Amino acid sequence: MSNRLPIAEGLFTWPAKKPALLGSRCDRCGIASFPAAQSCMACGSQEVTVEELPSRGTLWTWTVQQFMPKSPYNSGETPETFRPYGVGYLELPGGVRVEGRLTESDPRKLRVGMAMDVVFDTWRTEPNGDEIVSFFFQPVA
Ligand SMILES: [Zn+2]
Repeated sequence: MSNRLPIAEGLFTWPAKKPALLGSRCDRCGIASFPAAQSCMACGSQEVTVEELPSRGTLWTWTVQQFMPKSPYNSGETPETFRPYGVGYLELPGGVRVEGRLTESDPRKLRVGMAMDVVFDTWRTEPNGDEIVSFFFQPVA
């Protein structure tokens, strides 16, 4: 019996039929941040509210990671099995930018400003069979 576990607590709603990223918005100045923070990075106020972020945004900038990142990167891959992947920032309505992996790694299929959905999928599988779930950005079909 394997479990599906979030890569980190508090990053997104879990378990959930339709998970959503969790950010925080400052009650005083309105600035949003991801991941959710205890206090506002802009004005220092501790009056922040955790909220679910929109699931669709636009690609703000991106690159393709061509070599395996150093520890603590832990995808279960080895330098031999590593495959390049896209990584970028998604700009969400409400003004928050979230860094994450892209489901697309072909530079010819990526461009700044394209619409992308936040999706949730297995990031790696543990030796005991547990699946570690993370979020990815996927081009809108
Ligand atoms: Zn603030």
